[in-house]
Amino acid sequence: MLFDTNSYIIPSIMHQQLPKEIDPFRFAHSGLQIAGEIPVSKMSRLSEMLHDNSGTVSVDMQFDIDTTGTPYMRGQFAVTVNLLCERCMEPMTHSMNITTILALVRHEGKIEGLAEQYEPWILNDAKQVDPAQIVEDELILALPIVPKHDYPCLPEELWQAGEEEIEPEKPVSPFAVLSSLKLKK
Ligand SMILES: [Zn+2]
Repeated sequence: MLFDTNSYIIPSIMHQQLPKEIDPFRFAHSGLQIAGEIPVSKMSRLSEMLHDNSGTVSVDMQFDIDTTGTPYMRGQFAVTVNLLCERCMEPMTHSMNITTILALVRHEGKIEGLAEQYEPWILNDAKQVDPAQIVEDELILALPIVPKHDYPCLPEELWQAGEEEIEPEKPVSPFAVLSSLKLKK
């Protein structure tokens, strides 16, 4: 078992607004927790992928070191966003509640040795990072590739036809062209 459940007893600091800058490695060594909210409108990369930028992300990050000595962050991010349904092209609400466990690594070269359950959070030489960045990254990754209402938002015959694979146009054979010319004569 890599996670020590007792670590949650370690005193934590709470913020209504997330701090702008943290040192994740120091946070892990001290077993710190941060929690707060980030308006979606503050996340420009995420906003670009949404129908609008309404919504607020609630963020909970617990930093710690596992029993093998790997510093990690266990994040819980929840938000309801508005997406555009690609079936009916109307807005739809989409709730996300993701839990992620990221190992803190300095360089890409360190990724290989990580235990399987980890995704890497590559920090390079950064001493201080904005925690909102990693929240935004993770939310972007969790967005549905093709957003669709979870009910038949269009009459079935309409959307079924619309979702069929479009066959690539067949090249017209020169013989077909010739025979059509002959018919015209
Ligand atoms: Zn729809």
